[in-house]
Amino acid sequence: MPGDIVFMGPPGSGKGTQAQKLVREKGWVQLSTGDLFRAHIEAGTELGKRVKPILDAGTYVPDDITIEMVRHRLRDVPKGTRVIFDGFPRTIVQAKAVDSLLAEFGRRLDGVIYLDVPHEELIDRVVKRGKQEGRSDDIARVIVKRLDVYGLNTRPLLEHYKQRSMLREVNGTGTVEEIAKRLAAAAEAEWSR
Ligand code: ADP
Repeated sequence: MPGDIVFMGPPGSGKGTQAQKLVREKGWVQLSTGDLFRAHIEAGTELGKRVKPILDAGTYVPDDITIEMVRHRLRDVPKGTRVIFDGFPRTIVQAKAVDSLLAEFGRRLDGVIYLDVPHEELIDRVVKRGKQEGRSDDIARVIVKRLDVYGLNTRPLLEHYKQRSMLREVNGTGTVEEIAKRLAAAAEAEWSR
């Protein structure tokens, strides 16, 4: 039975696009904390009202709120179905929470895939997405902030997973199809350590 996988990568690296593709093709479940927050904002829930200014500023939602939302979502996932965590964990506290959450639900983590994209390309991609999708945090000023916040809080997690021999790096440049092939290969290769 496959374990769960974490997709890591800076804003604009294509995690969400690729996770959605794998969900369609393999029947896996995408758990995107960004999408979950946006759904709350859209629905006008208390949580949505609380996190909207945070997303608009490009900073991180507090760990306890994020972790509780993930716990809630995990309750609905059938045991034999692989989850792709997209945008979670983003802090060391969240990385620790992943271990306890998975234990709580009788799940296990196979490993972490890092989608590597050069910095200049990230800004181009996100600006384009902002124009197409109208995401309120995809404007140049907020993107620079998000990349900073990522570098400061999330990048160090790569080292955390590398030390545990759990990290695989995938080249995130090229066409969506090319990247998808590399990712599927990385996700489906044996994870035994
Ligand atoms: P991106 O990876 O392009 O920044 P996401 O949709 O994953 O886009 O996240 C959008 C925003 O949602 C983040 O800037 C942050 O405010 C919030 N967010 C998403 N995931 C987390 C998380 N794990 N912890 C804290 N905040 C998060």
